Amino acid sequence: MSSNHNRVAIVGRPNVGKSTLFNILTRSRSAIIKNRPGVTRDLQFGKCEWRGQEFEVVDTGGVTDSNDLMPQLIRQKVEDALRMSDLVFVVTDAKSGVMPEDESLLRLVQKSGRPYQILVNKIDKESDIDLMLAEFYELDTQLIACSFERRQGISDALDWVLKSLPQKFMAPQEAEMTLAILGKPNVGKSSLVNRLIGENRMIVSPMAGTTVDAIDIHFEKDGKKYKIIDTAGLRKKAKRQDDIEILASFKTKDAIPRADVILLMVDVHEGPTEQDAKILREIQEAHKTVILVANKIDEAQKNIERFREKFKEQLKKAFHFYEDIPVVYTSAITGSGIKSLFEKIDDLWKKVNIRITTGELNRFFTQVIRKAPSPVYRSQNVKFYYLTQTNQTPPSFIAFANHPEGVDPSYRRFLMKQIKEEWSLEGVPVRIFAMKGQHAE
Ligand code: GDP
Ligand code: GDP
Repeated sequence: MSSNHNRVAIVGRPNVGKSTLFNILTRSRSAIIKNRPGVTRDLQFGKCEWRGQEFEVVDTGGVTDSNDLMPQLIRQKVEDALRMSDLVFVVTDAKSGVMPEDESLLRLVQKSGRPYQILVNKIDKESDIDLMLAEFYELDTQLIACSFERRQGISDALDWVLKSLPQKFMAPQEAEMTLAILGKPNVGKSSLVNRLIGENRMIVSPMAGTTVDAIDIHFEKDGKKYKIIDTAGLRKKAKRQDDIEILASFKTKDAIPRADVILLMVDVHEGPTEQDAKILREIQEAHKTVILVANKIDEAQKNIERFREKFKEQLKKAFHFYEDIPVVYTSAITGSGIKSLFEKIDDLWKKVNIRITTGELNRFFTQVIRKAPSPVYRSQNVKFYYLTQTNQTPPSFIAFANHPEGVDPSYRRFLMKQIKEEWSLEGVPVRIFAMKGQHAE
């Protein structure tokens, strides 16, 4: 069989979403590799680019439904794919839950010795994650909750690939970072982009011979690689304001799930508006890291401290649902604040990628959480067993408890606040899931 390097196999029962994933991963590549010599069964190959690095994916899809647990043909196909690959995505379907076929497939994957990651697909609503993920923990403790249709979980899955492919690949933290600059027209987005283009080394294309992402802007700053997603109005000026608005809201939706860090820009003199709050809510729902860029600070020279105080007051009101949003004051015209902006970006990115061991978490758990009054569920105290971090970004934690239903939003906020304080994660969107435990006693 052909050499097996940098290839990720996608396996799973029929209808779990394998080809949906395959299409997303290879989306900007029209040329799917066909007729690879030696491959007779219908495996599909394609190229995937992530953070400026390239690898191949192979889909075992195209399987018809069958009542047999593991028809011979599927089994052979999966074995072929596994043999040719370095890593494996095991796709499962949260709507149907854990099926016997998932278990037999997983055994096949484990037998191959290839590192694998289970993706639990079709969790289309954030609020369903706890409930829908729970039963999959019997398969593995490291799960990624996904909705391929809503583009959720994809970047976590791809970061896992970069982390797991040995040597040749850079860790996600060191590879190209994707930025999106969002905000109303005229706040200074394109001025900021032009400034970055003027000051930094542009990377025309990350890989020779590719035209992918031609409209995205790649650049290198202080030895680090960045990409800015081209959102409407960044470089070309639409003729009519309406066109800009329509295009911008459409592109905003598309940009949010793709970005690592989002710069939400406002005109510091106008202050945050309702429209900004709406974008911020979308960012929050997608669990993306965001920095509020308060631009045009050059026009506020007199009594700058008082000016900032006033702006902060406005923020508190408009963004009351996002208390610790990081703020940087800039002038895209004079360049002031741009250095602090990139320091903030890098600082947050480091924190977003933090890994806390279960040991550390449990020390913290017994010292801090156990001391606080626990929530009550149906007149019983909710008892926590332990806390563990999942392999998702932003940092996500599972609290195992006797009554996960009793972990209400206010208690989650309390847990989050404590975790943020302990590990200096201010401004980082942290997630808490509650699962039925697993007794530790
Ligand atoms: P495959 O047989 O594993 O390749 O599965 P497909 O990719 O063909 O998907 C099977 C069905 O699941 C299709 O109808 C998809 O539209 C649907 N599907 C894929 N991803 C999602 C998702 O995230 N949410 C929901 N609700 N449906 C999905
Ligand atoms: P966009 O629509 O968000 O891309 O905004 P532009 O970058 O086109 O800027 C809109 C207007 O604001 C232009 O006239 C810019 O020159 C001006 N502008 C942008 N940034 C600044 C800034 O930091 N300070 C000042 N004084 N003007 C700015």
